[in-house]
Amino acid sequence: MIRIALVAHDRKKDAMVALAREHLGFLQTCQLMGTGTTGGRLKSELGLAVECLLSGPLGGDLQIGARLATGGLDALIFLRDPMTPQPHEPDINALVRACDVHDVPCATNVSSARMVLGALQRYS
Ligand code: PGA
Repeated sequence: MIRIALVAHDRKKDAMVALAREHLGFLQTCQLMGTGTTGGRLKSELGLAVECLLSGPLGGDLQIGARLATGGLDALIFLRDPMTPQPHEPDINALVRACDVHDVPCATNVSSARMVLGALQRYS
């Protein structure tokens, strides 16, 4: 089962829900985890089974980074808001860096997320 983490900053959460809706059939076949608020919305609005970790600013990004670093993740969809300063900027950078260190696909906007999800679906 493909393991995907889903994270969206506040102003990108609607886009995350729309993206997940587009790929609902595929995502239903995946093992999903997400930061608290993002995961909660995907659960309540789309009925996806998402393991909800802590909210990002409370350490959720770091929890996902730890999973990733120990081989527990196949891809990260991280819809970042480049226009708003985030209190947990160091955690965000650490998570994206962990993807580069461990060569895990990381999409940080909707267009690249569509490509990653489409490719994962084709390979699955
Ligand atoms: P959230 O965390 O899904 O709990 O809002 C995302 C983030 O801001 O990193």
